[in-house]
Amino acid sequence: MAPHAPYYTEEHEQLREQVRRFVQREIAPDIEAWEEAGEFPRSLYAKAGEMGLLGIGYPDALGGTPADPFHRIVVTDELARPGSGGIIAGLLSHGIALPPIVALGSESLKQRIVPPVLRGEAIAALAITEPDGGSDVANLRTTARREGDHYIVDGSKTFITSGMRADYVTVAVRTGGPGMGGISLLVVERDTPGFTRTPLAKMGWWCSDTATLYFDGCRVPAANLVGDENAGFLGIMHNFNGERIAIASMAVAFSQVCLDEAIAWAKERNTFGKPLVHRQVIRHKLVDMAQRIGSSRAWLEQLAWRVGQGHWPIAEVCMLKNAATQCLEFCAKEAVQIFGGAGYIRGQKVERIYRETKVLSIGGGAEEIMKELAAKQMGL
Ligand SMILES: Cc1cc2nc3c(=O)[nH]c(=O)nc-3n(C[C@H](O)[C@H](O)[C@H](O)COP(=O)(O)OP(=O)(O)OC[C@H]3O[C@@H](n4cnc5c(N)ncnc54)[C@H](O)[C@@H]3O)c2cc1C
Repeated sequence: MAPHAPYYTEEHEQLREQVRRFVQREIAPDIEAWEEAGEFPRSLYAKAGEMGLLGIGYPDALGGTPADPFHRIVVTDELARPGSGGIIAGLLSHGIALPPIVALGSESLKQRIVPPVLRGEAIAALAITEPDGGSDVANLRTTARREGDHYIVDGSKTFITSGMRADYVTVAVRTGGPGMGGISLLVVERDTPGFTRTPLAKMGWWCSDTATLYFDGCRVPAANLVGDENAGFLGIMHNFNGERIAIASMAVAFSQVCLDEAIAWAKERNTFGKPLVHRQVIRHKLVDMAQRIGSSRAWLEQLAWRVGQGHWPIAEVCMLKNAATQCLEFCAKEAVQIFGGAGYIRGQKVERIYRETKVLSIGGGAEEIMKELAAKQMGL
């Protein structure tokens, strides 16, 4: 792996070392047990908060450490090493819940919510997707009706990461008329009467909690509105580039884990009297994986750099998300094939990653939606 200059400085490499040690100490030894248990301990948030992991990319004034997109790529590369996307999705669910609050929220809302989440004392989730549909965000149906100093929220959200455990949920609600101009973001807190949740069992990401949320006449203080009423879509858009680049970064990192695991296995495993890696067909699979990872990583880094410079290369970020997730689907498939039966058995990283590929090409904007968005941006 070894990403180098021009994008990575000594400071990035120091962060890499720090996160690598954290992962080796606090995550790798227990990841199998957490995956089988379907959750990781809540105490991991506090540990990650203490070493500053949760605050990377947030303002000093809110308890974070300002960062560029390459700090995030480094963190993802290292968190991916144990081969569990669930740990990244769960531990970093604030990465989609907080940015709209940081960008648009009132000072008091920011000060109340962001610092405890970055310290790992509270958990934050983002709830946009509804049972009736996730891709068509502009048509969401959960309503929030103003009544004095409160909003009354009615509706439901589903597939929400950290949905069961979250203390703060940034919820997309309809406060106005149809379409994207009638959407607001409202923070619903854990003990709000009328707010209930049920867990969902999944194909992959087992250690990350995923839930359906129900809002039945929930009274939410109007002070929990994020930014202006009916301007929520702006907050959602604030997430798009960051979330899609983060998903591409995860896809590249897990592709690399597949390649590393497959190379190690191919060198060790003997069939017909020779190590697998001596077979041309196997070597070619490994080179095909490395080639796709190299292309996706180069594009990821170039776009991360442009986003870091304040550009919004929307079409390319959509295409990158697809390229990187297709790279992962290819690499996971080939890695499992190279492992043979062992690749089908629980406890192998490649088995787990294979089950986790689909969520990355569906979540954060599905592959088809990414193509439509790119087409629109290209004027097609
Ligand atoms: C494990 C997991 C975690 C998640 N975490 C969160 C979370 O934390 N917060 C959150 O809000 N959401 C979350 N999601 C939801 C995710 O963002 C949605 O699943 C995704 O946006 C797709 O929405 P949908 O599932 O409703 O699919 P649909 O919108 O019903 O689409 C179904 C399929 O049809 C395709 N499709 C839809 N419309 C079109 C069209 N016009 N043309 C062509 N094809 C189309 C889609 O690409 C997709 O392949 C999570 C999902 C999963 C699986």
